[in-house]
Amino acid sequence: MPDEAHATNTVIVGAGHAASEVAVSLRQKGYTGRLLLLGEEPYQPYQRPPLSKGYLSGEADEQALYLKPTSIYEKLGIDVRTSVRVVKLDPAHQIVTLADGAEEPYDKLILATGGRPRPLSLAHEAKSVQRLSNLHYLRTIDDVNSIRRQFKPGFRLAIIGGGYIGLEVAAIASRQRVHVTVLEALPRVLARVTAPELSAFYEQVHREAGVDIRTSAQLERLELDASGDAVKTIVCADGTVLTTDFLIVGIGLIPNVELAQEAGLTVDNGIAVDQSGRTSDPNIFAIGDCSSRPSALYGRRVRLESVPNALEQARSVAAALCGQPCPDESVPWFWSDQYDLKLQMAGLSHGYDTLVVRGKPSARSFIAFYLKEGRIIAADAVNSPAAFMLAKRVVAKQPLINNRSALADETIPLQSVFSDAAQ
Ligand SMILES: Cc1cc2nc3c(=O)[nH]c(=O)nc-3n(C[C@H](O)[C@H](O)[C@H](O)COP(=O)(O)OP(=O)(O)OC[C@H]3O[C@@H](n4cnc5c(N)ncnc54)[C@H](O)[C@@H]3O)c2cc1C
Repeated sequence: MPDEAHATNTVIVGAGHAASEVAVSLRQKGYTGRLLLLGEEPYQPYQRPPLSKGYLSGEADEQALYLKPTSIYEKLGIDVRTSVRVVKLDPAHQIVTLADGAEEPYDKLILATGGRPRPLSLAHEAKSVQRLSNLHYLRTIDDVNSIRRQFKPGFRLAIIGGGYIGLEVAAIASRQRVHVTVLEALPRVLARVTAPELSAFYEQVHREAGVDIRTSAQLERLELDASGDAVKTIVCADGTVLTTDFLIVGIGLIPNVELAQEAGLTVDNGIAVDQSGRTSDPNIFAIGDCSSRPSALYGRRVRLESVPNALEQARSVAAALCGQPCPDESVPWFWSDQYDLKLQMAGLSHGYDTLVVRGKPSARSFIAFYLKEGRIIAADAVNSPAAFMLAKRVVAKQPLINNRSALADETIPLQSVFSDAAQ
């Protein structure tokens, strides 16, 4: 084993998806040293995807969110400490400082600090807006518990942001007979991640379910009720006035990089790491939503916000710390559940020049391929899990598609379209 074998004391900051995975993976790969997870939330490591899906709807309970039973961490000798915030890193002395002033030394440090919701910032209300009783963000169990208290039939909900989280919430709220309006600043929903054809499909699905989707809707100001504690009306730049009972803001994520930044580590749209997860300090690694790493597949540094990415990066760091080869880079993928629709996406579609749709959106089952200079770089599948699995493998190779009409033709098996493609 290389010098990493001398690491007998590994501290992990953050106790989320990536943190839990790296700790368990380290044990599975034979790491026998101390493992300490420090998480600021009052919960054992849990998964976030159900927060805007089954946990929000009430179909999944809190227990179903936990990644592992507490007994597994105990059995594996992983010390998980909750409600503990790390406030400072000292790379020179290899120490982290906790909010209560206590210090923890480390041989190797893994930053798995995730991110926080991008706050709503309105010119006049920037300060007060974050403390209002009916304005919510959605990142934690506590956030959802507060939101659920206001999920009442007949209540009016305004969702700021037509991204995945906003639309998943809209789907659940409308099923619970909450009146939902989605205000999206861009001309279409999901604009940053999908093609206009997919956006149009999802806008139609939501409208059919009774959701009021408003695009190019620029928020101008919020007007408070008499108590001054809750939003009563939303005023848009075009003069539209919307009365609401509560709001959920889903306008993106800010990676938690401050600890790393203040400690002098390189930050580049996330804590910058190499392929094995190592930061600019050889004893410090970073994984998950907070980190950006070089992608051979895309020829640039990428920061991904997804469970598959958190797991892959965690396993890479565990391998590096145990002196094992870094697993190959996988194609990024993600999923979103809205109504009866499972959307699965493989690859990053940025820069595509052609979209080929196979199947009919009206049948609520189709796959859209994103091509760049004739090569498939990404795919979005709606209720098409088998096609998605094939597409995911193909996106990794980015094959040159000579026959686009065959790709769109459902009577020709995808397998044969791909086997005819040039590498
Ligand atoms: C509502 C919602 C729905 C989602 N749906 C999907 C989905 O369908 N599919 C998908 O692939 N991904 C989904 N994601 C994204 C996915 O959950 C994240 O990519 C994943 O959780 C990233 O894991 P992480 O460990 O990097 O960060 P996190 O899970 O955010 O964990 C980071 C933890 O570190 C803690 N922390 C931060 N700073 C400190 C500090 N200084 N001291 C101590 N602790 C600290 C944080 O409080 C947090 O608990 C969703 C996310 C949300 C919020």
